Amino acid sequence: MTPDTSIYIHIPFCKHRCAYCDFNTYAGQEDSIPTYVDALIQEINLIGNQATRLPDQLTIKTVFFGGGTPSLLSALQFDSILKALTSAFAFTPNPEITIEANPGTISPEKLNGIRKAGINRISFGVQSANTEELRMLEREHDFFDVIEAVSTARKAGFDNLNLDLIYGLPEQTLQTWQTTLQRVVDLHPEHISAYALTLEHGTPFGRWSSRGLLPLPDPDLAAEMYEWTMNFLFQSGYVQYEISNWAKSKDEGKRMRDEESENSSFILHAKRSSFACQHNLQYWRSLPYLAFGAGAHGYANGYRYSNVLRIKTYIERLANYQSPITNYDFPLSPATVNQHKQTLKDDMSEYMLNNLRLTNAGASESDFRLRFGSGLLDVYPKEIEELVKNGLLEWHKKTSEVLETSEVLRLTKRGRLLGNQVFMRFV
Ligand code: SF4
Repeated sequence: MTPDTSIYIHIPFCKHRCAYCDFNTYAGQEDSIPTYVDALIQEINLIGNQATRLPDQLTIKTVFFGGGTPSLLSALQFDSILKALTSAFAFTPNPEITIEANPGTISPEKLNGIRKAGINRISFGVQSANTEELRMLEREHDFFDVIEAVSTARKAGFDNLNLDLIYGLPEQTLQTWQTTLQRVVDLHPEHISAYALTLEHGTPFGRWSSRGLLPLPDPDLAAEMYEWTMNFLFQSGYVQYEISNWAKSKDEGKRMRDEESENSSFILHAKRSSFACQHNLQYWRSLPYLAFGAGAHGYANGYRYSNVLRIKTYIERLANYQSPITNYDFPLSPATVNQHKQTLKDDMSEYMLNNLRLTNAGASESDFRLRFGSGLLDVYPKEIEELVKNGLLEWHKKTSEVLETSEVLRLTKRGRLLGNQVFMRFV
């Protein structure tokens, strides 16, 4: 049986390219948005059509519009894409549908429109509450725009908001980071993501840093910020469920409002056990997701695959596509440029890399055995023994509503600080 699947849709447009960003996104090409949306719909129809020939029906549980800046699309454009999705695929009753948005690119009309179209979660790219830090990152908003955006989203009926942050910035102090987190918590988002800055090759930040023009973030200070974040967010009522992600818990969920519009394409009952991002959990649990759009990466039917990067080429490939693809392995889009069949070893290694990111759930012995027919210690005896001995991993007994008591292997607090060293052992 095919497990519930997710959908990632890439929107590769930004008003401006931030100096630290290495995502597949382009500034100054907003004129192409209408034809890009047409191409997306074409790709959705093609893959949806192929899916009807699979032995098991695919059911979609989450959709994530990432970017780029998805909030540059109009409510009408989101509505057309979501209509295409619902006619191409079957959905679970309460799908989580997220868009990433930049504060400053939204209006009450747009948010009301996308809420009506069925989008029920927004992830705002906040990054910092400090004006100097935002300027250094070349962000186009300030923190007043964030306050405004959260208030507008609440008024439009959004009761599931994420605020994205970055720490470990050059010249950032522990104090400015603490102020950022305090101001963000004061806005009561249901979910907070906090990622350490990485200096990527090919970005202005990467180049300035290699020429000595940008002071490198101090790794000890970044570790101190991370430890402070874990304690502070715990005290503020957030549960850490992944190395860089925190969500409000079930009890907080009780106060969720049920303000569904009758015009909505989806019915929501807001009865999830936590505000953890269901879409990202799909990645971290190594479960399948389809991908649409320029540069989008997917994992389905045992394949990892990715689409062509450039907007123009993506549009051309979909527009010029004529004959049905008959000799294919699902999913095959005319925009796909890489398709790689996963080996058992790939799948097991990725399972460890992904699931160990989940700070509570970890890698489950029973789930691993169910998927791969062997236990964790059968496959990684030496690695696990050493990492446990070094205090980076620990065994934990876990009882959930669905599973019986099961052993899980997870990162210790120290292991969370040295996650990459742990993951390397499973590659
Ligand atoms: S807005 Fe986001 S996606 Fe766009 S350039 Fe800046 S960081 Fe990258």
